[in-house]
Amino acid sequence: MRHAWVLSWVLLACAATLPVQSWPATGLAERAAPEAASRFVERPPVFAERFLAVTANPYATRAAASVLGAGGNAVDAAITAQMVLGLVEPQSSGIGGGAFLLLYDARSGRVRAFDGRETAPAGVDSGLFLRPDGTPMDFFEAAVGGRAVGTPGVVRMLEHVHERHGRLAWRRLFEPAIALARDGFEVGERLHALLEADRWLRGQPAAAAYFYDADGRAWPPGHRLRNEPLADTLEQIARRGSLALHTGPIARDIVDAVASHPNAGALRERDLAFYEAREREPLCVVHRVHRICGMPPPSSGGIAIAQMLAYWRLAGPPLRLADPGGRLLADGVHRFTEAERLAFADRNEYVADADFVALPGQRAGEAVRASSGTLLDGGYLLRRAAAIGEKSMGRAAPGSPSSSAAPGARAGIAFEPTSTSHLSIVDADGNVVSMTTSIENAFGSRLMVRGFLLNNQLTDFSFVAERNGAPAANRVQPGKRPRSSMAPTIVLDARSGAPLLAVGSPGGASIISYVARTLIAVLDDRVGLATALAMPNVGSRNGPTELEAGRAAPALATALAARGHVVEWREMTSGLHAVALRCRAPRRCTLEGAVDPRREGMALGR
Ligand code: GLU
Repeated sequence: MRHAWVLSWVLLACAATLPVQSWPATGLAERAAPEAASRFVERPPVFAERFLAVTANPYATRAAASVLGAGGNAVDAAITAQMVLGLVEPQSSGIGGGAFLLLYDARSGRVRAFDGRETAPAGVDSGLFLRPDGTPMDFFEAAVGGRAVGTPGVVRMLEHVHERHGRLAWRRLFEPAIALARDGFEVGERLHALLEADRWLRGQPAAAAYFYDADGRAWPPGHRLRNEPLADTLEQIARRGSLALHTGPIARDIVDAVASHPNAGALRERDLAFYEAREREPLCVVHRVHRICGMPPPSSGGIAIAQMLAYWRLAGPPLRLADPGGRLLADGVHRFTEAERLAFADRNEYVADADFVALPGQRAGEAVRASSGTLLDGGYLLRRAAAIGEKSMGRAAPGSPSSSAAPGARAGIAFEPTSTSHLSIVDADGNVVSMTTSIENAFGSRLMVRGFLLNNQLTDFSFVAERNGAPAANRVQPGKRPRSSMAPTIVLDARSGAPLLAVGSPGGASIISYVARTLIAVLDDRVGLATALAMPNVGSRNGPTELEAGRAAPALATALAARGHVVEWREMTSGLHAVALRCRAPRRCTLEGAVDPRREGMALGR
């Protein structure tokens, strides 16, 4: 069995270099990534009967599908995919970073939420990102080097989930990534372009030696890149679990890299040793006939999306955001972006790691509730929805859900550029994984240790500790998790509880726009999944109304301007990866996978 599985992996890995058309011989259906020139063309959905994996990279998708084909479940496949992604998409995620994972567990019929977010080391204080003169640092001044490295959490989290919900042996799940790291993978267009453009990586010796030739040129697309140090690291984690990363020589090397950099950080061995992944209560809300489950704090994704969907419903009679062909409609975009303004005002003011800073109307450490006085209180949402009128409100003020939650100036200052990766997987037993994983900025801190990059996730904290005398909710504190926008989501049928959709995206704070507009398009407007993912992105992070450059129609901008919107065209590179389930009975489903045409993902199933 073991040999057959390894062999099937080797065959799948080799197939990576073959033209797409040769694939059906394996019985798997796939759509390979078209290259950059066609990256804005909608990519057709992939259908499957038993299992399906969608990730941001063909190597990772194939590895995940091989695990599913060998009897592994969705958790097993997610672990394998993560290990491969860390190798082939190193700009986005890896064992030096953190992640949030939602699991629909078919046996119990429950959704579970796991938090592998980085933590601030014990030795930090709230002045971490302030210069000696008290002014906040620029983003890259903070992000590059050791300063912003948080205690990585993804391996501990995956281990925690695997102990409870995995099926295949932990060790086996690392074999594809180890083999690929030793044999080499072909550098993709996207990795090449990001390497070529990066201004900091060449200045970090370990990363420079791996990613560039002797003349400082990024390895070209198609170049076979091997990563022996990563293979060795993964072998140790495969054998000994997260202890191999969080204690001993690898942990010491992580700390050395962080502490010896001129822009030194506070991460120490005790931070690594004591890191704990958390299981949290998923944040589920009913939206019309659907139950939508997302991530609670320290991510702001779940709360913001729940509020937006409420405002979308409550602001007036039903509207469409898009027509069936996925074209955005001005009335819908107006309401959608106004709803997002309201949600972002509260997010920025109130949402942080709720173990440290209580949400309005709640106690610290309590699961998110929708009772009176909270951010999801029905009466509060109804009152706030009334602010959505004919004209844009421009900038929304945070609300006061309870008398004890009068808005101060707790918003702080946070920068949120984009890298990150989302994967959605359904296995043959009907388990569903929706996981968003990140090292924060592209190539994270740029510090490379033993073949992997360390995150810069602490830059998701507010750079200032207080404004006008009020402490920022998302200020840096030892042991705290920086506020995220990541929004892995699982949608269920509100009546039967059956899972219907897994979706999520990278994109910094715009993740919230990307996921919310996809949910409305797919669930309310009945836009086809692949069409919905390819739709132009729109949103507002409570500033201008943002439209995706080159994608949204100029007439839409004109119509919004007439309603008082200040429109800004922007690159909005979502990376939405989704699986929809249509089940006639348990285990009798049609699975539909779709990838975002803006990136190089792939859906593959059987
Ligand atoms: N660090 C961001 C967050 O956790 C994600 C960054 C990205 O999507 O690129 O919200």
